Amino acid sequence: MSVDINNLTATPVTPVNPAPVNAPVGAPARPHVVEFRNVGKVYEGAKPFTAIKNVSFTIEDRPDHGEFVCILGPSGCGKSTVMRMIAGLAPQYPASSGEALVFDRQITPASADRGMVFQDYTSFDHLHVWENIAFGLECRGMPVAERKASALDWVQKVGLSREKDAFKYPHQLSGGMRQRVAIARSLILKPRIMLMDEPFGALDPATRLAMQDLLINLWKEQQSTIFFITHAIDEACFLADRILIMSPAPGTILKEIRIQRSGKSAGEMQRDPEFQNRVFEVREFMEKLEQPK
Ligand code: ADP
Repeated sequence: MSVDINNLTATPVTPVNPAPVNAPVGAPARPHVVEFRNVGKVYEGAKPFTAIKNVSFTIEDRPDHGEFVCILGPSGCGKSTVMRMIAGLAPQYPASSGEALVFDRQITPASADRGMVFQDYTSFDHLHVWENIAFGLECRGMPVAERKASALDWVQKVGLSREKDAFKYPHQLSGGMRQRVAIARSLILKPRIMLMDEPFGALDPATRLAMQDLLINLWKEQQSTIFFITHAIDEACFLADRILIMSPAPGTILKEIRIQRSGKSAGEMQRDPEFQNRVFEVREFMEKLEQPK
């Protein structure tokens, strides 16, 4: 495991246009999944407010599986602004300055290559679990038998029961079960990028650890890039290949931490002294950030 948190100074983040990871010599460059070059966002209004400024980072398209990137930072530093801009959702999108690219192109309004999961449960209350999961496939015009079969597979993949849960309505499910539905509903569409805004923030600790393990397993299978906002430092340290830490508003990226994945479960990691040490170091860094100057 490697962590590099030495001091409070800003460290250089991934350079723009780095060499693709693991690319054979002479192979054509793969477009970056996401690239921000000095991106700023000013929310207009009676009193314009600069939410983020000079945000620069790159997420590469790795040939084996996508990168898992977590974004940490004090409340209000602009994490959701960055994520919703990637999603192409107004008013965060478009950027006020700089260049925000997805697959080397200017970001376009929301599209199926980008799935989103939010903290609050976003299922349709009048649809069964399987219909919620199949909703995007229905929008794509997939025939009902095919989309039902696929949705029922996903019911199982996210750890729900085909027999007991697939024909329930969202209000009959616990919070953890509803987030399983939300994850299935996004992943069934095989998005290249999964954007997750504190998806486990409202769950109890045990459910949260179970959801972290589930997400890692699905991510390994699915190969998507995941961009994940959390307030929980241990969650970021467990899930991420890379953590981006943002400064207080106007947010910019202060530090990038690369983490070697251990292969242990979320529960095992909670008891791992090296993991606890890493969480402690990141927490110390964050606490210093949040202290008034
Ligand atoms: P975070 O996700 O880190 O908590 P946000 O990206 O939600 O932060 O917000 C960053 C800052 O921008 C906050 O001060 C917030 O109040 C402000 N903000 C967010 N959305 C808008 C908006 N639509 N109009 C004006 N200010 C906004």
